[in-house]
Amino acid sequence: MLPEQSSLWLLQLLRGIQLAQFYRPMLEELNVTLPEHFDFVRPQDLDGIGMGRPAQRRLAEALKKHRSGLKSKNWVYKILGGLVPEQETPPPPESPLYPAEPEGGLKCLIPEGAVCRRELLGSGCFGVVHRGLWMLPGGKSVPVAVKSLRVGAGGPMGDELGAFLREVSVMMNLEHPHVLRLHGLVLGQPLQMVMELAPLGSLHTRLTAPAPAPPLPVSLLCLFLRQLAGAMAYLAARGLVHRDLATRNLLMATPRTIKVADFGLVRPLGGARGRYVMGGPRLIPYAWCAPESLRQGAFSSASDVWMFGVTLWEMFSGGEEPWAGLPPYLILHRLEKDCARLPRPPLCSRALYTLALRCWAPYPADRPSFTHLERLLQEAWPPEGHCVRAVTEPGALRMELGDPITIIEGSSDSTTWKGQNGKTFKVGSFPASAITLAEPPTASPVHRGSPAQGQRRRGSANGDRAKVKLEELPPAQGQRRKMPLRSMRGLSKSLESVLSLGPRPTGGGSSPPELRHARTGPEGPPALPPRPPLASSSSSQFRLSPSMQPPRPQREPLHSHPRGAAGANKAAGPPGGRLLDPELQRRIVEVELSVHGVTHQECRDALRTTGGDVTSAIQNLKVDQLFHLSSRSRADCRHILEHYHWDLSAASRYVLARP
Ligand code: ATP
Repeated sequence: MLPEQSSLWLLQLLRGIQLAQFYRPMLEELNVTLPEHFDFVRPQDLDGIGMGRPAQRRLAEALKKHRSGLKSKNWVYKILGGLVPEQETPPPPESPLYPAEPEGGLKCLIPEGAVCRRELLGSGCFGVVHRGLWMLPGGKSVPVAVKSLRVGAGGPMGDELGAFLREVSVMMNLEHPHVLRLHGLVLGQPLQMVMELAPLGSLHTRLTAPAPAPPLPVSLLCLFLRQLAGAMAYLAARGLVHRDLATRNLLMATPRTIKVADFGLVRPLGGARGRYVMGGPRLIPYAWCAPESLRQGAFSSASDVWMFGVTLWEMFSGGEEPWAGLPPYLILHRLEKDCARLPRPPLCSRALYTLALRCWAPYPADRPSFTHLERLLQEAWPPEGHCVRAVTEPGALRMELGDPITIIEGSSDSTTWKGQNGKTFKVGSFPASAITLAEPPTASPVHRGSPAQGQRRRGSANGDRAKVKLEELPPAQGQRRKMPLRSMRGLSKSLESVLSLGPRPTGGGSSPPELRHARTGPEGPPALPPRPPLASSSSSQFRLSPSMQPPRPQREPLHSHPRGAAGANKAAGPPGGRLLDPELQRRIVEVELSVHGVTHQECRDALRTTGGDVTSAIQNLKVDQLFHLSSRSRADCRHILEHYHWDLSAASRYVLARP
């Protein structure tokens, strides 16, 4: 608590309007010591100390006058004042004191003594989060999560304080069933945010929980997606961009309810273009980011939609890390140059994957809005059925009479469907005749491909046929299951700046090294355009000229294995003989999996030049990669790679740090 000397202004102000009797309660119960603290006080708080509404109006008037004569130098005011999104509605006439709370949010100042902290739940960049209890004046206590600002030796100043208050200023204006709620703020030492508790922790932790925790059923994942789309539509409608959408930032309030959390990177969208452009290199979750965010630092609701697609992918991949092991510039390269997309996880139906692909449209304008996504989700909703004949055949999905079954793939013209048994959570194929589809509940999503009511309910479960034709990408690369779980925890803490990691311009107007990229074939996409300057604050400097824009890509699988093998056996061959197709394929895949960011064709060419020797092909491709990223000679690149035991990521970091 600050010394009373510093709150004399309050006493004077209250005396001036004959309300001095409220001085002590305001100090002691509401913790108000500075004019800016009134930003967090709501009428109910003043009711709580016995101040009537007419007195509250007098106080509001006096405060307005006080503030107009005093442009505060106070840090809370400065930071919060600048951050309340412009589009907020004006304060309601009946409570002129307070910032708008359109949906009747309960955001208030909480006296320090009313909150007690219990065990640690986790820690983030600028705060630690404890489970806690908030004692309400009536004696009731509410379980809460308390995020306390980490205080350094020099006190709570600088970036951490700014970020903390930014998060408060965003959250205090939000009210949605699937957005984590801020109950209030404790103006103590340290500053504390009192939030709704999500007792089940993050969705990512749940997705990656080891056995015996059962996997989350597909139908529940779809429900979570719908909740997420609703919450994101709400944020988008308020002109906010989240920028850190990922399963680690979705908290589970109940087994069937998720809440969007972590508003540390949220920004109001400015300008007619509805974008937010970063002012320089910053930490961003690059594997979740849209190409325009990686390239230009540009964020918008459309880039949040891209992240929604990646979050969907995470959910259906059991919490795998997207683009695991790929550095940011190579992710961008894969997305733009190769038009690669994350592969369809086995649990994800084609219809849902199609939806993800729409979220990953290269041009932001081509992506659906969140409101549209809500509708698309309904259409892609997997049909539900139940078992009418026990299935016990070996190799088939086992089911017993009455078992609930979620259909992942199935069509009226196939006799075998793929689905998940809602009782055992096992996934597999089964005879379509073993189940009967449930009537779609009226209020819940109806699948577009569901058969008409009254028919024998065994229609297409795939949605329209066009969806089925879409590229079915191979399963996650080499099935790197559960790979980087440890490193995923608190990922946003260790995010690297994409702009600072990418290949650097050589300066002085010369071409950036990546323009030397000569790997594109005659009809391939153009070389990567130059990267933005490292610390530019101007969005225009990031803009690409139309000629530098990559062409609208054709969809291509992440691992674009040739559809036919006709040309394949004309490629590499071992010394002394032609390779058989399967052997060539095997070698190509081996090379492809060992060198991030190379195309199928490049692997084939590399094998051809090394006479089919896989190790040499891999090494040559890595030398190539490094060469195109730096201004060094190939011999130098080879030397550096040898030094790093052919670890391309490590070697890339080395050369990028020493242009
Ligand atoms: P950062 O804020 O640095 O991006 P973060 O999201 O990990 O990273 P915090 O928001 O400070 O950091 O959260 C720290 C941990 O506390 C996380 O593991 C999160 O799951 C947990 N946590 C945060 N808020 C709540 C909550 N309301 N209920 C339950 N757990 C929470």
